[in-house]
Amino acid sequence: SKPTLGNPQNTIEILQKYHFNFQKKFGQNFLIDTHVLEKIISAAGITKDDMVLEIGPGIGTMTQYLAEAAGKVAAVEIDKNLIPILEDTLSEYDNVMVINDDVLKVDIRGLVEKENGGRPVKVVANLPYYITTPIIMGLFEGNVPVESITVMVQKEVADRMQTGPGNKDYGALSLAVQYYADPYIVANVPPNCFMPRPKVGSAVIRLTRHAAPPVKVDNEKWMFDIIRASFNQRRKTLANGLSNSDKIDLPKDVITEAIVKLGKGESVRGESLSLEEFAALSNDLWEKKG
Ligand code: SAM
Repeated sequence: SKPTLGNPQNTIEILQKYHFNFQKKFGQNFLIDTHVLEKIISAAGITKDDMVLEIGPGIGTMTQYLAEAAGKVAAVEIDKNLIPILEDTLSEYDNVMVINDDVLKVDIRGLVEKENGGRPVKVVANLPYYITTPIIMGLFEGNVPVESITVMVQKEVADRMQTGPGNKDYGALSLAVQYYADPYIVANVPPNCFMPRPKVGSAVIRLTRHAAPPVKVDNEKWMFDIIRASFNQRRKTLANGLSNSDKIDLPKDVITEAIVKLGKGESVRGESLSLEEFAALSNDLWEKKG
């Protein structure tokens, strides 16, 4: 079989057949461009050995492509009105499992254990943009065995994930993503590739999970507390930002001394520190905390 969706005409036909109404609150923008779909599938590098987790299959457009390429697909969709449609559009495929639930409530780790014997899965999705960060951080921080995440996100969010120190988009999300994975923007995708058209530009980004973290961190939670505190008060110096934070709870002179040790000068701002420097600062302050 071959994918039947991915163009405007067949998408409209399915939507009318089932009298489907788009739900804004679920971030529903369906792909209607076969070139974009092929690009996503090829960037994800899927083979018949892979299990793919798809988040938000919609009417099953990308799911059809995934089912062709992968050994097995598990697709989690929150909107119960899409379930009968998916039964129809995916009826040709016996390697797809649809789960009608909120992805943020599903035990993904348990699912991967059960369906793939705990071997890492590839996540591929045209994400609902209102929960991009919780989905991605949930996968990384929840210790889900994931080899890569290839997803459509808001263009601006893709830029934030990929950028480094000194850039205006650099922040806590950049550092969190780069601690766990190597980001690569695959393509920019304009609004006319979706139905209905989103108000923002989109991009496909692939996050390839590091085999081991690129930096040695004594306490991950502490490092991310420091990172968040550093970017919470962007206009302040790093020393002020950290000493104002109730999460950090160390005297200012101790904090300043640790910052100076990085060779950055005491009036440096958080946005100029690399992941390596945040790790060094975090390890130093963790030791001072005793
Ligand atoms: N994959 C389809 C496509 O590319 O045409 C649809 C993508 S659309 C941007 C996002 C999908 O995620 C919608 O089908 C929406 O109903 C679903 N969704 C939204 N919130 C969700 C949640 N919390 N859990 C699971 N699916 C969700």
